[in-house]
Amino acid sequence: MSRAEIIRPECIPNGVDPVDWRSFAWQMRNRIRTAEALSQWIDLTPSEESAIRDLSRRFRFVITPYFASLMDRRDPACPLRRQVVPAALELEDPAGRADPLDEVAHSPVRNVIRVYRDRVAFCVNSECALYCRFCLRKRMVGEPRSGMLERELEQALDWIAQTPQIRDVLLTGGDPLVFSDRRLDWLLGRLRAIPHVEIIRLGSRLPVTLPYRVTDDLCSVLESHHPVWLNTHFNHPAEISEAAAAACDRLLRAGVPLGNQSVLLRGINDDPAVMKALGEALVRLRVRPYYCYQAQLLEGTAHFRVPIERGIDIFRELRGRTSGFAIPQYVLDTPHGKVPLDYPFARGREGDDFVVEAWSGEIWREHNPS
Ligand SMILES: *Cc1c(COP(=O)(O)O)cnc(C)c1O
Ligand code: SF4
Repeated sequence: MSRAEIIRPECIPNGVDPVDWRSFAWQMRNRIRTAEALSQWIDLTPSEESAIRDLSRRFRFVITPYFASLMDRRDPACPLRRQVVPAALELEDPAGRADPLDEVAHSPVRNVIRVYRDRVAFCVNSECALYCRFCLRKRMVGEPRSGMLERELEQALDWIAQTPQIRDVLLTGGDPLVFSDRRLDWLLGRLRAIPHVEIIRLGSRLPVTLPYRVTDDLCSVLESHHPVWLNTHFNHPAEISEAAAAACDRLLRAGVPLGNQSVLLRGINDDPAVMKALGEALVRLRVRPYYCYQAQLLEGTAHFRVPIERGIDIFRELRGRTSGFAIPQYVLDTPHGKVPLDYPFARGREGDDFVVEAWSGEIWREHNPS
């Protein structure tokens, strides 16, 4: 695929002022919450319509007009549509659980998850611009209680300040970029004031779901608290629009290194050709594919899950066929941390040799006396 085929032009609907369309506040105010509103963007199938009616209360149904504008009007298998439009299949998932990573047990203080000695995930809010149907944090995102109590944020900050081993704080949620610039500036400033916090990372899907959030003002805030890294979450090359590419470019110009974390999703990106196109498109934007997660055993998501062996094959197929840094690390998140799910290219010792399999399948024996 050529560059032009991948980056999707911005498409502002008739009758909407382009200044409004490109504003974070307008997009948030005009989010889609009903089948009727969504049907202005796509031709809903009867099954999608009833799933919206039956399931949107179980797990919040909200889509930004921007993200809806990238969907295919006629194709129910559209990879963007499947990520955010409820499906009847969400009811069929006997193995699913509410908290598969046992995050609640790994919280030394509310909203902080610690599975490693030196770094934590800090869930700073429960709001996102839109809600993904496969979301790991289903248990906490989209709660009616809007925002997090100031007191809870303070308690978490106190815990981090009193825990000198923590050198890396990952801000997640929800989505930390839903915060206003002022609130984010305050939070980053508080973390920066803790001497042992060396790096701050943001996990945000807004560059994908509402890229107009990434303004010059936001970039100035981030820049003033460096080193700040950001991992975003593209799952499919069709999510890479001109607006999303521009958002990534602004962040990079502010010196924020960008990574991407995707989720392996059946029927969306469980195909080496799609993963290769995604990785290569991201690298052209100077976004480094970081992790691709095995979908968790989360309630209502069985239809998204891919068998782990298949996932290993997909990433094995990319090795040697594209730039090494266009290939993310395929990982399984567990209550004990992330585990790499690599194809075993390193076969092991045979006599004085160490036997390896090359990307092409060829076997190499490296002389390796013990
Ligand atoms: C993913 C994660 C991290 C960060 O892990 P890295 O491998 O350093 O990216 C830290 N804490 C928790 C709880 C996590 O889930
Ligand atoms: S943006 Fe991230 S946290 Fe929010 S619903 Fe989607 S996957 Fe979950």
